[in-house]
Amino acid sequence: MSNIVAIVGRPNVGKSTLFNRLTESRKAIVDDMSGVTRDRHYGMAEWINKPFTVVDTGGYVANSDDVFESAINEQVLIAIEEASVILFMVDVNTGITDLDDSIAAILRRSRKPVFVVANKVDNNSQRNDASVFYGFGLGELHLISSMTGSGTGELLDEVVTHFVEIPEEENALPKYAIVGRPNVGKSSLINALIGSERNIVTPVAGTTRDSIHIHYNQFGHEFMLIDTAGLRKKTKVKENIEFYSVMRTIKALEEADVIILMIDALEGLESQDINIFHLAEKNKKGVMIVVNKWDLIEKDHKTTKEFEVKIREKLAPFVDVPVVFTSVIEKQRIFKTLDVAKHVYTNKMKKIPTSKLNEIMLPIIENNPPPSLKGKFVKIKFITQINGASPMFAFFCNLPQYVKESYKRFIENKLRENFDFAGVPIQIYFRQK
Ligand code: GDP
Ligand code: GDP
Repeated sequence: MSNIVAIVGRPNVGKSTLFNRLTESRKAIVDDMSGVTRDRHYGMAEWINKPFTVVDTGGYVANSDDVFESAINEQVLIAIEEASVILFMVDVNTGITDLDDSIAAILRRSRKPVFVVANKVDNNSQRNDASVFYGFGLGELHLISSMTGSGTGELLDEVVTHFVEIPEEENALPKYAIVGRPNVGKSSLINALIGSERNIVTPVAGTTRDSIHIHYNQFGHEFMLIDTAGLRKKTKVKENIEFYSVMRTIKALEEADVIILMIDALEGLESQDINIFHLAEKNKKGVMIVVNKWDLIEKDHKTTKEFEVKIREKLAPFVDVPVVFTSVIEKQRIFKTLDVAKHVYTNKMKKIPTSKLNEIMLPIIENNPPPSLKGKFVKIKFITQINGASPMFAFFCNLPQYVKESYKRFIENKLRENFDFAGVPIQIYFRQK
């Protein structure tokens, strides 16, 4: 699990420049929500082996003056609620503006760690100018230049010390999160599962992470359901429904073991869903697709198959993902969904004994060795699964640097054919023997 770092601040202070810098080593996760001014708002970053998700809150504000201040203030509130650390960015060249002041006022009431980040400190002579920002009463200042990267390392050193870890005992149960766009049926599914059986539900309160975890234990299934619907608070959010729902989704992605990605059968898999899917994959989460409202589709014997094929085409290359067709309203395949989620979780936790792995994979490799490169032959001698939160395999060989991506893909497919890893991203490393 990793943490969420939100960059807040008024427009033009340099939020997206910092965002790009933090996420640049990772491939950008592009999303195209409707009604937003930019197309990149969240991405993965890492500092000294601590992965985290960065959210550039600025991208969500529609650029019209009348909604500006209230929309930004509301975003700050959402960020406070959802993020682990908040970076409040200001511009050293302009000093404190009214909008900066109103954001600071909200942040002063936050219990979350807030860092005042004075940006555009490109040279030493600007360092003194930054001292005005002590006026916010938000403590230490961090002087950076998002453009050159100066100061960002020191900032991140501090930021990562505020990350929260999940308590051990909570890790014992599988954690599922139902995510998806508004109106696909997430709350209906949760209600179908727990609605009439309140007595089997224990909201686990008092955690450090203020999201609600529901302990479900019924009909042979025991798991924690991470509440992402956020219905309790939705009503308070007026101008940033989209942003709020994205923050919720990211948070669920961070915390869950298995992502149940729900789509509406009438709408199919859209780019926003694909982004969530890839985010789950990058986070090395188990994932399954639930196509809900299947009752609304006119069907013949081929419909399910064809729908599934279309979905997989859009998910490529990670296509080994279970798809379940539900009608929550007609209570169709609700428990199938839980069975599949459990199956994905089991796959995620699966440990293949070394002897079995070598017994199956070495003959395959012998018959299909890596193609020789510049007259050199790669010899794979030994395979082992590395301990981790998701399946990772080390292939020990003489010349790991000569193994190509295409051969890795071949190996991954063979692993998937021989051992069931449906719904789980797997990683393959070639290492020097
Ligand atoms: P946002 O609206 O807060 O996301 O701000 P942007 O990242 O789009 O940056 C606004 C402008 O400030 C752009 O022209 C950036 O190139 C510029 N900018 C961002 N960071 C720095 C910096 O560290 N130094 C300087 N001199 N300019 C910067
Ligand atoms: P959420 O925003 O994803 O939590 O979606 P809701 O659970 O609030 O559902 C949105 C709407 O879709 C509601 O009117 C539900 O009654 C309806 N709905 C949910 N599941 C189904 C289904 O399986 N079939 C049909 N026809 N409608 C559904």
